[in-house]
Amino acid sequence: MQAIHNGQCGVCGHFGERHKSDVLVTILSTKKADEGFIDECGHPKHAPLHLKVTAISGCDGFVPAAQA
Ligand code: SF4
Repeated sequence: MQAIHNGQCGVCGHFGERHKSDVLVTILSTKKADEGFIDECGHPKHAPLHLKVTAISGCDGFVPAAQA
């Protein structure tokens, strides 16, 4: 497991936003994710490209995910 910090995909509202799952909720609440876990970025600039990112990736399009 890897720790996820502010600004990284795992805590970004666009991470897997088209199909929010229990895994994504767990990643958000624990701020930890499996090294090999990837999901699609839903940012409007990335979604058409089906960009897939790990939980510790990041970009300037980061928006904090709403806390449950
Ligand atoms: S690539 Fe950027 S916009 Fe997409 S989930 Fe990661 S931080 Fe968010």
